[in-house]
Amino acid sequence: MMTRKVLGTTAIVALLLGTTNGIATAAPVYGSAGAGDAYYPEDGNGGYQVDDYDISIDYDPASHQLKGVAKISATTTQALKGFNLDLLGFTVDSVRVDSRDASHRRESAHELVVRPAGSLRKGQKFTVEVAYHGVPDPAGAWFLRPSGGAYAVGERQAASSWFPVNETPRDKATFTLRATVPAGWSVLSNGVRENVLNTAGKTTYTWRERTPITGYLTTIAIDRFTLLTQRRSNGMPLVSAFAPGTEGNIPVEKRLPEILDFEESLFGAYPIDTGGGVYEFGPFTGALEAQGRSVYIIAQGSGTVANARNLVHENAHQWWGDSVSLWNWSDLCLKECVAAYTEDLWSAQKEGLDLDRNYRETVSKNLTNPTFWSAKLHDGGPDSEMANAVYYRGPLFMHALRRQVGDRAFFAALKAFPQAHRDSNATLQQFIASMECYSAQDLSAFTRAWLDSTTIPADRYLWPGNLKP
Ligand SMILES: [Zn+2]
Repeated sequence: MMTRKVLGTTAIVALLLGTTNGIATAAPVYGSAGAGDAYYPEDGNGGYQVDDYDISIDYDPASHQLKGVAKISATTTQALKGFNLDLLGFTVDSVRVDSRDASHRRESAHELVVRPAGSLRKGQKFTVEVAYHGVPDPAGAWFLRPSGGAYAVGERQAASSWFPVNETPRDKATFTLRATVPAGWSVLSNGVRENVLNTAGKTTYTWRERTPITGYLTTIAIDRFTLLTQRRSNGMPLVSAFAPGTEGNIPVEKRLPEILDFEESLFGAYPIDTGGGVYEFGPFTGALEAQGRSVYIIAQGSGTVANARNLVHENAHQWWGDSVSLWNWSDLCLKECVAAYTEDLWSAQKEGLDLDRNYRETVSKNLTNPTFWSAKLHDGGPDSEMANAVYYRGPLFMHALRRQVGDRAFFAALKAFPQAHRDSNATLQQFIASMECYSAQDLSAFTRAWLDSTTIPADRYLWPGNLKP
């Protein structure tokens, strides 16, 4: 059996390999329809990495019709005879690869399968241009406003609701948006606003994000915004926008320079080329750390306004989640535990919150509450890892970790890590390894107790350092 199996495998390998001048080269294949995340293997695509998105859209708020042309520059990571892009809905009018017509078909809800006229070599740079039109699918991340405005925001998927994309945090690229809307409407997106052009009753806004960005961190918002432009002390302009009725958030957004200074003192240089925020009404209250311009959704009629801790959280993600993106969604705690704890660090410094006391009170209150400890902070499973545990127990884990390794090691690692993994991806394991490196401690038992357990940590991990009441 063993021999036959080995022979069979060899035969298949031989079929897949061609030879050029005696050197074996892999025959072109279709890139995979997923990027390989353990929880969401279908998210994103394989076989290439995008270098740049150049997206032009024309949007009509009255009819909700969107007409787009996406020019995507990419590099193959293997020889390809075809590859996938992610796009939810829309009619695809044409696809061209390196300026030649390519055949294409739709597969499942959000796969666009492209077959170029000729194969692509491994390491080859190529461009794919997709023309498409239609009304964005209401099942996606494109939200309509009663005013006629719209915005796209979502985690894990957002971009594929309005342009073709390799929608995985494992693929980051520069991004330019040219959005044309009827005169009187404004468009906000990521990056720097480069140009506003008025022609024949329409306005085209050009936004350019030079810091590599992943699909779900792109955003677009179309409304009749009030703009707030501020500057950081280093001169970086911060552009924020408020949809009609959300202007009550202007005072808190004015604290953004102070918040970024505070976070820079913790995490090192701000890693994105611009900053700001977008405030919109929506069907729920929530926020997402869109790159360089977090989006705050206020439930219509709730009278809610964001507070400084909300801004601290979303902007902490500019380092943790945006610049340093997750490699696996099972590592959600890498970005959420840190962002949630940053809120506490802010409250400690600005409002005098006693974090040791806060920790002791929260833990003591939940000593006999197994539900509080039952969701794993790491690898909690698909569609459950977003559970609230990272928000309510993440800060406790971070504070216990801090007391375990000591302030010196903790804050040194907190600053070094985002700089070491800037514009890249990282894992929770790498974060723990960094804490181990700075503290010269073996944290494997500590992290097993805090991250991989469904019960309360044993006393020695629950009360490290001076935390014991
Ligand atoms: Zn968050």
